[in-house]
Amino acid sequence: MSTVANSSAQVLTLNSRREVAERTMAFEFTKPLGFEFKAGQFAEITWIDPPETDAEGNARAFSIASAPYEDRLMFTTRLRDTAFKRVLQKTQIGSIAKVGGPFGDLTLHNNVSRPAVLLAGGIGITPFRSMIRHAAHVRLPHKLFLFYANRHPEDAPFLEELSAIEKENVNFTFIPTMTAVSRLQRQWTGETGHIDPEMLTRHLNGLPESSVAVPIYYVAGPPAMAKGLRAMLNDAGIDDDDIRTEEFGGY
Ligand SMILES: Cc1cc2nc3c(=O)[nH]c(=O)nc-3n(C[C@H](O)[C@H](O)[C@H](O)COP(=O)(O)OP(=O)(O)OC[C@H]3O[C@@H](n4cnc5c(N)ncnc54)[C@H](O)[C@@H]3O)c2cc1C
Repeated sequence: MSTVANSSAQVLTLNSRREVAERTMAFEFTKPLGFEFKAGQFAEITWIDPPETDAEGNARAFSIASAPYEDRLMFTTRLRDTAFKRVLQKTQIGSIAKVGGPFGDLTLHNNVSRPAVLLAGGIGITPFRSMIRHAAHVRLPHKLFLFYANRHPEDAPFLEELSAIEKENVNFTFIPTMTAVSRLQRQWTGETGHIDPEMLTRHLNGLPESSVAVPIYYVAGPPAMAKGLRAMLNDAGIDDDDIRTEEFGGY
């Protein structure tokens, strides 16, 4: 089943794949000349003549997890037992797929005086990884805060990478939090528990109440997580006009 209109599809070669967290795989295609996108947008991947298929079909939408300056198009997904994802894990490097897009408008605002507060639930990190890498590369002056909730560190793709970027980009603050603290396998000294108004206020230094530079909030993740984060923002008094959401329909 196709999730989006696929008017501008190109045939691309699968270049590499690697595990980036438990049950989570990143896969890359060589970016064709002329394929331009904004950090935060998504594409639709369709297998061509896959060895197997199922009722859910050969196409999925994925946020582009690489940044526009990079020469690869990278996507990252949770592995589940569907034909699309079995093909993703087994198909030979060098196989081809149709890549349609870019689509979507979860892209950073232009007004640099307004901070961006990014809230990722699990795999919802993908559009934000692109934004954070892009911001570091072009030295965007926006203040960026990334709250990133996972059950435990093993589940969290790009944890080390994002921590490393935080050390280099003074405009970027990274706040990962682990929600299944009783089952933590490795030592964790960061935040624990769900992202809530108290955690936001503590890290934003009162920014939500500040009328000087009202942040714009961005939310991404599976629908239940994204809805929960958006409701939490509303409860904290954030106006819907200042919230942009990408729900990963299909989870
Ligand atoms: C804008 C956008 C960006 C996304 N980015 C990512 C990402 O970066 N990483 C990631 O892992 N997943 C992402 N997803 C979800 C992804 O497309 C898959 O649906 C998800 O990975 C589950 O696939 P599955 O094969 O495991 O499950 P399945 O349940 O077998 O497949 C999902 C099915 O749901 C369909 N579907 C897609 N959108 C919807 C919808 N809105 N409502 C109902 N059904 C829908 C798909 O076409 C497919 O048939 C995104 C989805 C959207 C809409």
